[in-house]
Amino acid sequence: MSLKAITPSIRQGLTFGLIFALLSLIFSAFTFGRFPAARIAIPLPSVDLFVDVVMHMAAGALAVLPSRCASLVVGGGLAALLVDVDHIGRVLALPMPSRASHSLFFLLFAVVILALLARTKWFPVKEHWLLVGATAAAAVLSHFAVDAFFSDSAVRLLAPFSIATVPIPHVAGLACELGALALVWAARAWVDTRRHIVPGRPSP
Ligand SMILES: [Zn+2]
Repeated sequence: MSLKAITPSIRQGLTFGLIFALLSLIFSAFTFGRFPAARIAIPLPSVDLFVDVVMHMAAGALAVLPSRCASLVVGGGLAALLVDVDHIGRVLALPMPSRASHSLFFLLFAVVILALLARTKWFPVKEHWLLVGATAAAAVLSHFAVDAFFSDSAVRLLAPFSIATVPIPHVAGLACELGALALVWAARAWVDTRRHIVPGRPSP
């Protein structure tokens, strides 16, 4: 594949990641006023932070590989990292918790909004809405997987309805990554099957 062919995929993937980050920010705002305001420090550049960033992007991109769509692989990797923009409220000392988007309801929110956007003609990634939705789900699940293994593993699974933290054991983290892979694989298989069905002709 030439560089010319790769560049649009990177650009489309970056746009997907930025839309996803915006959704994470909007979703985290639903917890505004639910937590005492206190400032947390922006993490300084360190080897640990670098490993955390690389692992989140790698786990997201890996989970989306079965889509066989370079834009979605780039977008999924970036989105898996950018779930963490939900820390911004704490960095700005706003009365909201960090990790509000580390939630199953954010997963649903991101899947529905991105699948709907994928049906509009201006959406950057020209792929089936089901694959776009599966990529959004995979990004959140693979984020959970890396948090379970490499960070403080507590997530706010039911935010914004409950802001209680729930720990993710390693085995559940592994299940999240495998589940993300299976979801994208199933979406790709379903989309491919539908494309091979010719209307009016019995399927083989
Ligand atoms: Zn996280």
